[in-house]
Amino acid sequence: MHAQPRPNRVALFPGSFDPITYGHIEILERALELFDQVVVGVGVNSQKKTMFSLVQRMGWIVRYFEGEPRIQVTQFTGLTVEHAKAVGARYLLRGLRSAPDFEYEKSIDILNKHLAYGIDTVYFIAQADTQSISSTLVREVIKYGGSLKGLVPDFIIDEIYAQPPAPATDAP
Ligand code: ADP
Repeated sequence: MHAQPRPNRVALFPGSFDPITYGHIEILERALELFDQVVVGVGVNSQKKTMFSLVQRMGWIVRYFEGEPRIQVTQFTGLTVEHAKAVGARYLLRGLRSAPDFEYEKSIDILNKHLAYGIDTVYFIAQADTQSISSTLVREVIKYGGSLKGLVPDFIIDEIYAQPPAPATDAP
């Protein structure tokens, strides 16, 4: 019997990445052990206002993984499963930090299986040292000018704090 060449195993890691954090990075590094290619899908959602532009969010991921040809960065609108099909991914990747993450992901998984047959999701339980990091927390720290050391890569910190502060919108 001849061994069949193993098909390329491609996974899509969808998210807002507003901005990318060491929590996301840790998931991506673990995913490279399992998959041949990991496509990061940066979501464009007209209903969701992001702190950083799509160009910034994608650019930071591209720059961090510059020397890693197995990671590609893409943008998408609409259904995640449709983007997965478009990039040839049979698997989605998600991180689980807490019980609410699990409950949310469970409902999304049921929806995705209803929408697209044959696409499955692989979940990574967050590591102890990065599980409390979220983009929401990072954005909160930025609002008050706090230290981002250890939350996002240093070059991103430099770029964020090189920007003029956004005008306060809710001042009394
Ligand atoms: P979304 O808006 O889709 O939740 P995010 O950019 O916030 O987009 O997150 C993308 C994925 O990364 C999600 O599966 C989320 O659970 C995971 N993630 C974010 N932060 C961490 C972390 N610190 N540890 C593990 N997974 C994480």
